[in-house]
Amino acid sequence: MFDVADRLDGLRCWPTERLVARRATLVREQRRLRVEELAVIRVLDERGRVDDAMAGHDGVSARTVRETVETARALESLPAVAAAAHAGDLSPEQLGPVVALADESTDAEWAVRAPDVAPADLARLARTKTKPTVEDSQARRAARSLRMWWQRDTGMLQVRAALADVDGARFEATIQRMTDRMKPAKGRAWSSWEHRGADALVELCDVYESAEPPTAAAKPLLVVEVPMSGPAEIAGIPLPDAMVEQLRANARIEPVLVDADGVPVTVGRQTTALSPKIVRAVLLRDGRCRCGNCEHRHGLQVHHLRPRSWGGSDDPANLAAVCIPGGHHQMLVPHGRWALVGNPNRPDGLRLVHLDELTPDEARQLGLPPRRAGPNAA
Ligand SMILES: [Zn+2]
Repeated sequence: MFDVADRLDGLRCWPTERLVARRATLVREQRRLRVEELAVIRVLDERGRVDDAMAGHDGVSARTVRETVETARALESLPAVAAAAHAGDLSPEQLGPVVALADESTDAEWAVRAPDVAPADLARLARTKTKPTVEDSQARRAARSLRMWWQRDTGMLQVRAALADVDGARFEATIQRMTDRMKPAKGRAWSSWEHRGADALVELCDVYESAEPPTAAAKPLLVVEVPMSGPAEIAGIPLPDAMVEQLRANARIEPVLVDADGVPVTVGRQTTALSPKIVRAVLLRDGRCRCGNCEHRHGLQVHHLRPRSWGGSDDPANLAAVCIPGGHHQMLVPHGRWALVGNPNRPDGLRLVHLDELTPDEARQLGLPPRRAGPNAA
């Protein structure tokens, strides 16, 4: 094993000129090895074997890997610059900008000039190499696009986008930073950049949702269609029940009960008992007791917001899951003095209210005369 104290003791016996020469040799060797590495990377790149897993392995950022690949690609057409770098004349800091700056016609020239130019100056020269016109920029912006289409058989949304200069850079930098931060747990492998990039896109949706101020009139972003039988669907893609359960926690998703033709269901009042299909659909839609913040997920029953005896229907819009263990079903109308009012198809659409405190609209929904405090009031 390398013993730093031991090594330092040895070097302290060296004359200074020998140390200076040794360092120069080491720097040249590092530069030579760097160019050798770039050559290997170029071929791995051709074989599609360079990805962000490499960044994870090497302990560098994905951006560094990307820049390394760009340098490796460019060097192929810059033999003179490559030779100068291999000879140790170009630092890694100079090599990056000089390959961006040089082309086949200026390769030999830059191989000679670049070793004497500061990295920052090379970088500035590379940036100003071509100056696009305003028209160029406008043409790029005019060519922006986003296309999305569902691949129904796989249930995958395909996305293809083209973003102009600044927008493209912002998007790339944002996604890059998000994916850089998706570090795996200690000892776990990095997931692929493709996976992390896709997760980053979806995360942007979360950011948008939470940034949008919630208003009473806000439309749900998504509708999950819950049919009487068969799987629930989102955008026509079937989902497992467990996922619907999860989605329900998201207030911007509205479960809607639909019939076989995808039409929101209205069930006639003539049915005497709730069909098992409706019960299943309501329980699947609600998943928990809908009274306030009650967390009960077991011992649920389907409750009529407006009781049948008050003219309420078996329409799922009049039904909600409520719990027995928490005492909620028992306290609700018609037996109790509390009512659930609102739209049960919205996750946050219901309000638990005492009959004495109904608004006129809520009284109307319950089938009570608006000016009466409750069914038993005088
Ligand atoms: Zn409850």
